[in-house]
Amino acid sequence: MQVTVLAHTAEPVKVVAMAARLCYSPLDIENLRCSAIAEDQQLIEKVLALGHESVLEHASFSFGIEGVSRVLSHQLVRHRLASFSQQSQRYVSFDKGFSYQVPPSIREDESLRQEYDRMMEQSAKFYRHLREHKIPAEDARFVLPNAADTRLVMTMNARELRHFFRLRCCRRAQWEIRALATEILRQVRKIAFSLFHDAGPACLSGPCPEGPMSCGEAKTVRLEFGELE
Ligand SMILES: Cc1cc2nc3c(=O)[nH]c(=O)nc-3n(C[C@H](O)[C@H](O)[C@H](O)COP(=O)(O)OP(=O)(O)OC[C@H]3O[C@@H](n4cnc5c(N)ncnc54)[C@H](O)[C@@H]3O)c2cc1C
Repeated sequence: MQVTVLAHTAEPVKVVAMAARLCYSPLDIENLRCSAIAEDQQLIEKVLALGHESVLEHASFSFGIEGVSRVLSHQLVRHRLASFSQQSQRYVSFDKGFSYQVPPSIREDESLRQEYDRMMEQSAKFYRHLREHKIPAEDARFVLPNAADTRLVMTMNARELRHFFRLRCCRRAQWEIRALATEILRQVRKIAFSLFHDAGPACLSGPCPEGPMSCGEAKTVRLEFGELE
């Protein structure tokens, strides 16, 4: 899995703090910009504690995501407040084969791993066979597996990112999207610590909402995300 921050709002913390300050201040825009970093951080803490989260929408982040499966991308695009562009299986053909993801549970078992690789090869072979019979890529792709790799560009604002982390950094989330969410969190914390220092699974900010389905390890999870570097 490769995740790259392609672009983000310049001075995301400053922009969010300015938007928050504007709501409560008689100052004009130019004067609202001149605040100390510590003041900005304090203000952000305060408005987030109040649930005044719309100010976070002024900071956006775009990511390049590669080496992930279609299993992951299918879950990812359920996040409706994000924007996505995904490599097409209609316009891009896979006549020379495709790369794919192997779940750790299968990777650990040598003989299952070999069977898995054979299934992928069969799928690639049948795809080629269909293409040799002039079947268009948009139809041949029906035999490509969920494991097939894809790549996307995704843009989310900071509010949606925090929501995404809450759901997808949780141990109840599927392992691949959890790995992606955790990596994105690691990267955005470096860019805008004040916006994301407390972001992560729901149990970071209160009791686990998963009830009987809880992993029961909130303490460990809190440590894990507290120390994320
Ligand atoms: C552990 C886990 C298991 C899951 N299992 C399944 C499953 O079995 N089957 C399945 O289909 N999905 C499943 N999902 C996907 C889940 O139902 C959501 O579609 C996905 O997590 C996106 O979340 P969201 O809708 O909150 O986020 P977003 O689409 O990113 O939206 C963010 C927030 O905006 C608001 N919002 C967005 N659109 C609307 C709208 N139209 N109306 C009102 N408010 C809106 C909501 O407050 C929402 O929480 C699962 C997700 C997780 C984390």
